[in-house]
Amino acid sequence: MHAKMLARMGAPYKLVKHASELAEIGGLIMPGGESTTMLKFFSKEGTGEAIKELVMAGKPVFGTCAGAILLAKEVLNPSQERLGLLDISIERNAYGRQVDSSVRRGECPELSPRPLEMVFIRAPIIRRVGEGVRVLGRCDGMPVLVEQGNVLAATFHPELTEDEAVHRYFVEKSNH
Ligand code: GLN
Repeated sequence: MHAKMLARMGAPYKLVKHASELAEIGGLIMPGGESTTMLKFFSKEGTGEAIKELVMAGKPVFGTCAGAILLAKEVLNPSQERLGLLDISIERNAYGRQVDSSVRRGECPELSPRPLEMVFIRAPIIRRVGEGVRVLGRCDGMPVLVEQGNVLAATFHPELTEDEAVHRYFVEKSNH
């Protein structure tokens, strides 16, 4: 869980339950899960609009797995609603059914000198990276950690490993 990681790092955090709370926070982590289910909350409480406002205000937002899908500009397999805050095309469940989840090693040279363990769970694959998007991490040659301005997205789950590198990067981004 992201909260556990932040607590371990001594970084302050708050679990957000309602869209109205988004205006008060300094940054946001959108967790994994099922993006189609998460979308239902977006329309209900105006959560989608509140997240857009957060990004427009320059606050850092980090989406992991389903969170990355929600942030993308284009979603494939199939297409679905999204916030369009990150110029990538992302394909859902792209590793196929036989690879439901896997632990791989990838490189994020700017974040860590050593390879990172990366947990993929029914993970998407980033198929296109827009011009303004920086690739911070790769695994098997594919981009798995990307950044566009104050928006960060990972197709893996950094909160499920011991390594704090990705969260540390996000927290430092939030402190600027
Ligand atoms: N398969 C999920 C989706 O398409 C994402 C899985 C995850 O967040 N671990 O929304």
